[in-house]
Amino acid sequence: MPFTKFGLLDPLVQGVLAAGYVVPTEIQSQAIPAAIEGEDIFGCAQTGTGKTAAFVLPMLHRMFGRSAAKHTQAKSLILTPTRELAVQIERSVSGYGRFLNVRALAVYGGVSIDKQIKQLRSGVDVVVATPGRLLDLMSRQAVRLGHVEVLVIDEADRMFDMGFIADVRKIIAAVPKERQTMLFSATLSKEVRQFTADFQKQPRMIQVGREHNPIETITQHIYPVTKEQKLDLLLHMLEYKDMDSVLVFSRTRHGADKISRKLKHADVNAASIHSGRSQNQRQAALDGFKAGKYRVLVATDIAARGLNVEGISHVINYDVPAFAEDYIHRIGRTGRASALGDAVTFVSRDEMPYLQRIEKFIDRKFVMEACAGFNYAKSLGLTKPVKTEKSDKPAAGRGKQANKSFGSVYSGKKAPSSRPGKHRKNTSRRFGR
Ligand code: AMP
Repeated sequence: MPFTKFGLLDPLVQGVLAAGYVVPTEIQSQAIPAAIEGEDIFGCAQTGTGKTAAFVLPMLHRMFGRSAAKHTQAKSLILTPTRELAVQIERSVSGYGRFLNVRALAVYGGVSIDKQIKQLRSGVDVVVATPGRLLDLMSRQAVRLGHVEVLVIDEADRMFDMGFIADVRKIIAAVPKERQTMLFSATLSKEVRQFTADFQKQPRMIQVGREHNPIETITQHIYPVTKEQKLDLLLHMLEYKDMDSVLVFSRTRHGADKISRKLKHADVNAASIHSGRSQNQRQAALDGFKAGKYRVLVATDIAARGLNVEGISHVINYDVPAFAEDYIHRIGRTGRASALGDAVTFVSRDEMPYLQRIEKFIDRKFVMEACAGFNYAKSLGLTKPVKTEKSDKPAAGRGKQANKSFGSVYSGKKAPSSRPGKHRKNTSRRFGR
């Protein structure tokens, strides 16, 4: 169904068309008609599926179908776990609602609260908030939630992971019971199900894609490599021209800083985002990456959760995430809205158990590859160069063997190869195909 057939307000259809969307995504097709009717929605959708428009469009339709934007007290509240997501969603609301003159405000920690208090006093229609800062504002009587008609809880599973759920419950208690509640989560855990049972009225359950299956448009590569060689391997890969916009993940803040420092040292334009940096630094790094000023953005899981950057060509997991769910979220940064993308994971020997956990989670076995042209021996300081050869072994059954089969890579000897930077043309190893 095209956007024009949903019965959305005309200015909203114009807003969507101005954003360049022609065909609704699956979650939009399923959620918009039900949400326009005022039904509660429980959306289980991975990142990159277009879920923001799926809740923002019906929300604005219901808010402004009867009366124009008044810029007084918030009629819609969107809760989201990270500052970057709050900014991103606020931009989407303002973008889709541009012809309705919607006033949206993002409130989040790490920046001055006084400015936010002032902005709230001057009146808003939609508040997008991280839970901690919103509670602060509530305790200062700077925001009133008594007029909220539509409540959205985005990334509910992450709210649990990050320990925000008690705050979220307090906030919900301050919102009128007569409301529409839309909740989105990438995974369907028992606690998320319990949460919806507590706060939603017979929600329409919409599940897009299989719960644990990474997005089909992303080609995934696993490169076994020693810890000592990871930076050399990254630099080697960056020599390939088509890696033009690369998001590198590090498990720790310290690691993210170190990688970005070393990249800069090697003349690669890089910036980092993590919770140890100020909000201004984080936003400047993100904006610079979006604008193409930085070719590489190094991020931790929390800082990059849900980030929506157009045209990320590659995601590189410099280390294997400790939580299998984070793997899905990391690789979901590329291949957004059906664009093709590549995700490469560096795995050192001690990270193999994490990788096996991911395999179990997504119910797939990975194919181990070696990066063609990368001199594993030289990088290790050995004198003999490594010969590479093509691996035609099928994916099935190799995961558990990985540690054994790739002992050669870890010791700098012979290894099978693949071609980084040419991945997009190689669809044979793409999952789900
Ligand atoms: P989201 O999952 O909401 O973060 O959206 C992921 C990306 O898809 C964003 O870059 C959106 O701008 C884009 N997007 C959302 N809906 C559509 C659509 N119907 N057609 C094309 N792109 C879309």
